[in-house]
Amino acid sequence: MVFLPSQTPNAAQLEDTFRHKGLRKKLIDEIRSKGISDEHVLRAMNSVPRHLFMDNSFVGFAYVDKAFPISAGQTISQPYTVAFQTEALQIKKTDKVLEVGTGSGYQAAVLCEMGVSLFTIERQRSLFDFASVLLPKLGYHPQFFYGDGYLGLPTYGPFDKIIVTAGADTVPPKLKEQLAIGGRMVIPVGNRQYQVMKIIVRVGENEYSERETGNFVFVPMLHGIADQK
Ligand code: SAH
Repeated sequence: MVFLPSQTPNAAQLEDTFRHKGLRKKLIDEIRSKGISDEHVLRAMNSVPRHLFMDNSFVGFAYVDKAFPISAGQTISQPYTVAFQTEALQIKKTDKVLEVGTGSGYQAAVLCEMGVSLFTIERQRSLFDFASVLLPKLGYHPQFFYGDGYLGLPTYGPFDKIIVTAGADTVPPKLKEQLAIGGRMVIPVGNRQYQVMKIIVRVGENEYSERETGNFVFVPMLHGIADQK
């Protein structure tokens, strides 16, 4: 089930058919009925062809509201979760955003579709390679980084928004430091079984507000970069 950069779809395979669009519209209606109301988020998700981000074995399920396996034992987030985190970020077009956990690149594409300036980090080489080839082909141009998201990107901060798409054991202090004053971080924190979605706002230089929303299940946020094979 490992997809390699060489298997990244070529231009002819980047098809988004009438059928895909129909299924996607239904998925968006389902997500709306589950409580997502930000039409900017829903519109962006309606524009991004999720089937192009899936592993070949699961491509038929691209418009089912579930997480699915991708390469390196990771998952593409559930569409509802992508919508929930994106809505919680309160995205503005002018935002500079840091994403930890590029994975398939799907969440990154949704953020780019919303017009933000995006920096995204991944610690698995095969996923970094896959996403950094696919997204530009779809017209999305975030800056890709291969590294450890616990460290953030100190030279590129501060960020207006930070989204973490893997389950962290604690809120990484370096990410808090890289939040702009008035900036907002959305991060799942917990153990391997489940995590609580935290919304952290940097209210002042040394002052943060923190609120907890629902429970979610993410693959773990791990330290360091994965061993290269
Ligand atoms: N946003 C992705 C979700 C992928 S799952 C998507 O839309 O598909 C979470 C990803 O976080 C995995 O690819 C995993 O390798 C990555 N990850 C885990 N710990 C990390 C870390 N410390 N730094 C960067 N990426 C990390």
